[in-house]
Amino acid sequence: MSSLSLDHTHDPSLRSWVASSNTNDTDFPIQNLPLAMARAAGSSEPFRPFTAIGDQALDLVAAADLGALPAEVADVLRACVGQGLNPLMAAGPTLRRRCRHALVAALVEGSEGGGPARLSAALVPQSTLEFTLPCRIGDYTDFYAGIHHATTVGKLFRPDNPLLPNYKWVPIGYHGRVSSLGVSGQQFRRPLGQMKAPDAEPPSFGPCKRLDYELEVGALVGQGNPQGQPVSIDQAEDHLFGLVLLNDWSARDIQAWEYQPLGPFLSKSFATTLSPWVVTMEALAPFRRSFSRTGDHPQPLPYLDGAVNREQGAVSIQLEVHLQTAAMCAAQVPPHRLMRSDFADCYWTFAQMLTHHASNGCNLQPGDLLGSGTQSGAQPDQGGSLLELTQGGKQPLTLPNGEQRTFLQDGDSVTLVGFCEAPGHRRIGFGPCVGTVLPAITG
Ligand code: CA
Repeated sequence: MSSLSLDHTHDPSLRSWVASSNTNDTDFPIQNLPLAMARAAGSSEPFRPFTAIGDQALDLVAAADLGALPAEVADVLRACVGQGLNPLMAAGPTLRRRCRHALVAALVEGSEGGGPARLSAALVPQSTLEFTLPCRIGDYTDFYAGIHHATTVGKLFRPDNPLLPNYKWVPIGYHGRVSSLGVSGQQFRRPLGQMKAPDAEPPSFGPCKRLDYELEVGALVGQGNPQGQPVSIDQAEDHLFGLVLLNDWSARDIQAWEYQPLGPFLSKSFATTLSPWVVTMEALAPFRRSFSRTGDHPQPLPYLDGAVNREQGAVSIQLEVHLQTAAMCAAQVPPHRLMRSDFADCYWTFAQMLTHHASNGCNLQPGDLLGSGTQSGAQPDQGGSLLELTQGGKQPLTLPNGEQRTFLQDGDSVTLVGFCEAPGHRRIGFGPCVGTVLPAITG
C-alpha cells in the first residue's frame, strides 16, 4: 500500500451520516477528509485538529475521547493540540492512512463504531470555527515549475530569452519567508518598497503600484530526511503529506528592480496566503496522472526520473482565480472568475521538487512548505497572475460591473479555488483560499 493506491475509502458510492457531505457540489465528501487546525471562533482555546465533512467539521480529539479512533492515532492527534499537525506529519503515511480509515469508518452511513449517536457531540459547523496555519512551517521554498508562467513572464522581462538555459533541467526555486504566511482570510497591507520605472533615474521608494497575486499549489512535507541523506525519486511520495492552495502575493515593480542577481526578496516576503484544509495525498489518489516529457523537452536527469513518478507523479487539480473588488463587495456582487488551469500541466511533479530539494543533502522537516510556482495554462486567458492576464499591465481587464484592473487595488479580495474531478470518482475540493489587500501604511 502507498499513498497512490486506491482502496475502499475512495469508493464513490460511500455516503456519510452527515447529510451535507452527500451533495454533488460539496468540496468535502467522505472521500476527501482533509485536515486543519481550528478552534471556536473568538475563543482562546488551543487550536486542535479537525477534519471537514460537508459543511461540518469533526473535532478529532473529541472524536478520540469518544472512542472513535484507534489508540495510536488518538495519541498522535492529541500531540497536535496547540502545536499543529507536525506530529501526524512526522508519523508517516502508514499512520496517516490508519487515521483516514478510522475516520471513514466513523463517518460512513450506517457506521457501527461511530455514527451520530456517538459522534454528534464532536461535530461543529465549519462556519463557527476560526483557523490557523495547519502546521508549524519551519521552511518555505517556492519553486517556479509552471512553464507557461515562466515563459510569459520571461518574455516580459527578457523578450529574446524567456526561458533561461537551466529551466528545463533544474526545478528552479528560492527560499521564501515563513513569518508572513497566513491562512485564508488573511488581510495584509500593501507593501512599500524601492522601485525604478524604465525611464526614471534614480529609483524611488513608496507604496507598490503593481501588486499582484500568484495562483500556486503548496505541498506540505510529511516525514523528513536526515541532513546529508537525499530522498530518492522512488521514495519521494512517502515524504509528501498533502496539498493546499497557495497565493504568493507579489509586488511586480519591487520585483523587477530587485530580482537580479539573487532572485525575489521584498517583492514576495510581505504576505503569502494558504488554504486551511490540507488535502492528503491519500485523498488525491484517484486524480493522479502520468508524467512525461515530449517534443523538444529533455528527459529529466536520472535522479529525477523513476517509474512511479512517470506513471503517477502528476496530480490533476482544476484551479481558478476569482476577484472581488470593494465596490463588488459593497454591492453584494459575487467574486468574478478570472481564469482556470490544471495542475497536471505543472512542469515538475512535487516528488521531483522534493527529491531535487534534498539532493544536496538538505534536510527537509515535517511541515516544510513547497510552493509549485504560478500555475498558468497554455492559453493567454489562463494566466495565473495579473502580470500575465494584463500583459504586464498594458491590457486592463474589465470586470462585469465595468471596473477595470491592471493590478490589484486596495480593498480587492482574491479567492483561489481548487477541485479534483475524474470519471468514476467523487469530486473533492480544497475549500477557498481568500486574501484581501489593505491600504499601505505611509504615515
Ligand atoms: Ca511564486
